[in-house]
Amino acid sequence: MPTRRRPARLFAGFCTVLLAVGSAALSQSTENKQVTSQVVASDDSDFARAVKEWTTRPEFSSPLVDHLPKAHGIPSPKDVLGHHIGEPKKLTYYADILKYYRALAAATPRVKVLPIGTSNEGRELVVVFVGADESIENLETYRGYLAQLADPRKLADAQARDIVAKAKPIYHLSGGLHSGEVGPSEMLMELAYRVAVEDSPLVKQIRDNVIVSITPVADPDGRDRNVDWYYKYGINETEGRTTGAGVPYWGKYVFHDDNRDINYSQVEMRALLDWYLQWHPPIMHDLHQSQTLLYTFSGQAPQNPNLDPILYAELPMMANFEMAQLTKYGMPGVWTHGYVDMWSPGYLAFMSSNHNGMIRMYEIQGFSGANTQKLRLGNPNAPGGRGTGAQPDAAAITAGRSNQAQREWYRPWPATGEFDWSLRNNTNYGETGVLTALQYTSQFPKVILENFYVKSRNSIETGRREAVAGYVIPAGQRDQTRVAVLVNMLRMQGIEVGKATADLKLKEGSFAAGSYVVKRDQPYARLAKILLEKQVYPDATTRTYDDASWTMGLMTQTDVKEIADKAILDAAVEPVAEVRLTGSVTGSGSLFAVAHTGSNNMITLRARLKDVKVQAAEKEFKQGDATFPAGSFAVSGDAARVRSAIEPLGLTAVALPRPPGVPMHDVNLPRLAVYSTWSGTQDVGWVRYAFDKFEIAYDLIYKEQVRRGDLKSRYDVIVVPHQVGTAKRLVFDIDSRGTPIAYKKSDQFKYLGMYGESDDITGGMGLEGVAEFDKFVKAGGVLVTLGASSFLPAEFGLTPKVDAARTSAQFYSPGAIIDAEILQPDSPIFYGYDRKMIPARWANGPLLTIQTGANPFTDNPPPGPPPTPQSVLMRYPGGDDHVLSGLMRGANEIRNRPAIVDQASGKGRVILFAGNPCYRWQNFGEFNLLFNTILNWDDIGTAAAATTTTAAR
Ligand SMILES: [Zn+2]
Repeated sequence: MPTRRRPARLFAGFCTVLLAVGSAALSQSTENKQVTSQVVASDDSDFARAVKEWTTRPEFSSPLVDHLPKAHGIPSPKDVLGHHIGEPKKLTYYADILKYYRALAAATPRVKVLPIGTSNEGRELVVVFVGADESIENLETYRGYLAQLADPRKLADAQARDIVAKAKPIYHLSGGLHSGEVGPSEMLMELAYRVAVEDSPLVKQIRDNVIVSITPVADPDGRDRNVDWYYKYGINETEGRTTGAGVPYWGKYVFHDDNRDINYSQVEMRALLDWYLQWHPPIMHDLHQSQTLLYTFSGQAPQNPNLDPILYAELPMMANFEMAQLTKYGMPGVWTHGYVDMWSPGYLAFMSSNHNGMIRMYEIQGFSGANTQKLRLGNPNAPGGRGTGAQPDAAAITAGRSNQAQREWYRPWPATGEFDWSLRNNTNYGETGVLTALQYTSQFPKVILENFYVKSRNSIETGRREAVAGYVIPAGQRDQTRVAVLVNMLRMQGIEVGKATADLKLKEGSFAAGSYVVKRDQPYARLAKILLEKQVYPDATTRTYDDASWTMGLMTQTDVKEIADKAILDAAVEPVAEVRLTGSVTGSGSLFAVAHTGSNNMITLRARLKDVKVQAAEKEFKQGDATFPAGSFAVSGDAARVRSAIEPLGLTAVALPRPPGVPMHDVNLPRLAVYSTWSGTQDVGWVRYAFDKFEIAYDLIYKEQVRRGDLKSRYDVIVVPHQVGTAKRLVFDIDSRGTPIAYKKSDQFKYLGMYGESDDITGGMGLEGVAEFDKFVKAGGVLVTLGASSFLPAEFGLTPKVDAARTSAQFYSPGAIIDAEILQPDSPIFYGYDRKMIPARWANGPLLTIQTGANPFTDNPPPGPPPTPQSVLMRYPGGDDHVLSGLMRGANEIRNRPAIVDQASGKGRVILFAGNPCYRWQNFGEFNLLFNTILNWDDIGTAAAATTTTAAR
């Protein structure tokens, strides 16, 4: 165990002594460059003094960051921002961060700023490169080398060795993915400056051997909103969040889930992926702050076994090097293992591991603002969630409820006791860690590159060797639009997909020409397998940090066949760039039938044709040899108009000579609202995102609008997305601590008050809000509750016959995909579904029960299982046999529990979904359950709500 006396003192003067040597080397190496002004004059004494003052204990700094060189003509962060990095009570807005990097790039040939896209709110997204003059001048050449190593099919091993000898690894660093984790985006500015100008042997080695690339702020919209919130509220707080509330939004749609965006729905994440596939950095390192004092990720179990074993050896190697170095510098509290696992491929930096590189991650001690605050690490022997994958929240850490003060084999020198923690401490830890990671990389650049190459090569060879040789997505599936979504999501990630040019005869069966084929002998075959296969836990006793499963064929409810027959590798295919469906309209006239085969685009079609008459057929009908299932539209309108709406949506329409002879009802778009608490905006955000993408018009409402009352005069349908976990929180939301907390725009705080505003976000809708929901329903409104929000109608009396319970403490299932059984197939909610059993994602919502009217105290129940009321439209069969992918411990607990319940109330109804049919842009196959509910809101009325029962099926 290291001594508490700071051994780093031994290195005093380390950097200044070697400065002269470095400078000499620099002027030689830049002799022939246009810009040679990069002469380091001396260390900045003002910086050293300030950093010493802001660092709350000597051991919270290191010899790597306690000084900063001055370089003539090259602006330090203070020269542009007006303060050194890490000054208490100073946070930088995104525009100023960009301003700094641009000023730095303008002053030195060692820095380049590359625009890569635009955020949801219009902020420019960039990647900043830092390296030796020569590296930056020849960036394109180095990009080319990495691209070659990334696809070894075109390389002999000898050529690869040549390229490795010439290439340099790109090490990508990313800050600000989570807007409340403010420190790294500040630190990275100082790091960029230091790597560009410092001439210590260490930094010079980094600069020469590695190309550093930086995402300054991964979610810049959220950054600005969080900085606004900090200056409005946080700056005056002395002990954490005394206001009791954080800013209601980071990005436009999501908070932390930008790190769970497995399908890259958010434009910021997509821009980085597109950049990644151009540049192939072998390492991507995300900088977070939620652990004490610095956690460095090494990929604990459960690990996805599809990834290369080299990766699992590399991860702890680098983490252990950092842990040893920082401990040597005298910095306590550096640890690895015991936090995040390697199961879900959806974390942002996983884009690197998914493509044969390496994900890295830090969690650095910090706060959501820049105040210096007391940290209480409490009893080192307290029990806690270590090794469980559970996520201790910042409040728990601050309150000392976490046991990160405890020594473990993976935490040889914990921080203990009570001390002040400052933004500069966070900078010191983060920057020392990153410089150490870069030290490692610059010491072994060829090893990093070789490994990247070999992992890429292994991916292809493993694919040729292993039992699964590929996947076929058969042609002729009912709904082509979800097939297109699936194929395009694979293509977006760089996975090669081919279209069979002839019929395929494989051991698994025959597949028609036009089927999509994913072969395993390709560089990104591992990712294809990870995304397409059924998830089976290597060890069912482990827990995961995030989702248990994501199998894309199940999530999209498309048919994907796993193929063992190696003949698939030789199948003749033409490469698919992107699937662009063009729908078809046949015949002419003024009435068109549009088949509802489960496309999510049906609701978009209705929205685009909102001024024309659209009816839904309540039974299947035929026209010529085409069959139109129940739910198909009959659209009145001229052919040109219908064609322009149908074709881009990939739907098919056929002209009808006369109305189909089956019962029909009007498809009326409701006046729609989406209800959000002020603390649960992220889960609501995913529903908003889906509605926006499918062009579903809605109002986003909060307690303010609900309490105003008279909801029925404004809305026909109110959707309450899954959010906040319990009915009580849904009703009472953020605790009031006496002082109103406003979320409003002002001249000073321009980024607050977006996506809704409030004079006081605390207090929730309260019981008067519940009463307004009840009045809305009784007056004819349709209230739709999703996932955990379905506790609300059951527990607050909106649906007196429905009870809601929770699974036991032994039950564990972070989002398994399970069977759901449709019990009332004639309900409009199931239009487009042609199977009785469909895959559904388990959302840890309520276990619902419907009271059947029998009084258990006085009535003798009839023998056999109780009948299932007609109001249960869908249910979970439960049991292990019905778990399709991922893990569900205690699957019997959900046996025959209702999945969708329809309850009439007054003139309206409440429709409770126990699951979440609109989850993180993933379960496209379930979206239609919600979309159908919205489209047919005034025609769902069946006998369902009556108390009559039918025998269980
Ligand atoms: Zn984070």
